[in-house]
Amino acid sequence: MKTVSILGSTGSIGTQALEVAKMHKISVRALAAHSNAELLCAQAREFVAEYVCIFDENKAKDVRDNLFGSKIKVLTGDEGLSQIANLDVDVMLNSIVGIAGLVPTLEGISHGTDIALANKETLVTGGSIVMSEAKKKGVKILPVDSEHSAIFQCLRGNDSRQVSKILLTASGGPFFGYTKEKLKSVTKEQALRHPNWSMGSKITIDSATLMNKGLEFIEAMRLFDLQPGQIEIIVHRESVLHSAVEYNDGSVIGQMGAPDMKIPIQYALLYPERLPCPAKRLSLTDYGTLTFAKPDLETFDCLSSCIQAAKQGGIMPTVVNGANEEAVKLFLADKIKFYQIGEFVKGALEAFENRSVNSVSDILRADKEARLYVRDNA
Ligand code: NDP
Ligand code: MG
Repeated sequence: MKTVSILGSTGSIGTQALEVAKMHKISVRALAAHSNAELLCAQAREFVAEYVCIFDENKAKDVRDNLFGSKIKVLTGDEGLSQIANLDVDVMLNSIVGIAGLVPTLEGISHGTDIALANKETLVTGGSIVMSEAKKKGVKILPVDSEHSAIFQCLRGNDSRQVSKILLTASGGPFFGYTKEKLKSVTKEQALRHPNWSMGSKITIDSATLMNKGLEFIEAMRLFDLQPGQIEIIVHRESVLHSAVEYNDGSVIGQMGAPDMKIPIQYALLYPERLPCPAKRLSLTDYGTLTFAKPDLETFDCLSSCIQAAKQGGIMPTVVNGANEEAVKLFLADKIKFYQIGEFVKGALEAFENRSVNSVSDILRADKEARLYVRDNA
């Protein structure tokens, strides 16, 4: 029986991962969340976890009271998260949202644990450090993001040196076909309504601005050691082809499936096994037609800024990510308009001078500065 820990267990990915764990009787040793004490406690009891970490120290008392009388140990804050990341488990699923996932990923790696990685911000900001540490430690980074899981699956059984390019698919989000002018009047409700996927609020907004695809572009470069010129983004409205790999001979191998995150979550948790998954099956004849189009880099500033940041390297991917995290927070709090998210991301890219990244503290400093840039200009 596999043992896992789940960081971000109360979120969209975390709760779906628990469904998978339940179906396959995966043992859940530890769970971590930010502040959703009630759900975290209910999950810990149901899965008989040994440890929980509630990051928000103000909620620790609620969790202790709730779990009083059980054997579950309650941890909190950075220290608690670090303890969870240092437990012995077969796989640590990191489904925390944002750059907060970076340090726990690195701790899990240095402990020698394979990482099922949903937290794409880890690779966008700290990708080079994360991948080289994982290599040193002989740790697997198993992608959970559906596109990267698809690419990972399409690379199996082939020689990655014979890859000519990656076709990274994008749903296009709720504002596909919009002009810059039309984006000026979109509301929060519209931006939170994704056509194909039900996800946490931050990634739903990222999908509407196409920042998500920009982050995934950088994520793919880091995970699969690619140059920016080797990744082609293709808008595919139906989210059935989850991405594909083109080889030197022109053969394109793609991975298809119903748009359900439980499939890539399960693939990462049970890797390399394929067992029945609690997800709908794909019926291609229900779709009839699949469509493919080029992305609109003129309208969606977040996407073009990420591609530029990817080409520049250094702190720039962290700068666009940090600016975006802060701008999305302000947008969700009704402090800025939707179109301003793209303006802030692009503005940060132009305002910052690049520096090299040699350590995690270089990354955290750039992140802080990018957030400050947005707050100062909002
Ligand atoms: P959610 O917002 O639904 O969930 C985020 C989770 O992280 C919650 O459990 C939250 O706890 C927890 N969390 C946040 N900060 C901390 C912290 N400092 N310490 C411990 N726990 C923390 O996000 P999603 O599940 O949608 O996304 C998670 C990650 O996966 C993101 O990086 C996203 O980009 C990526 N991803 C998501 C997909 C999806 O379909 N949802 C698809 C592909 C990638 P609490 O509930 O208490 O706030
Ligand atoms: Mg994705």
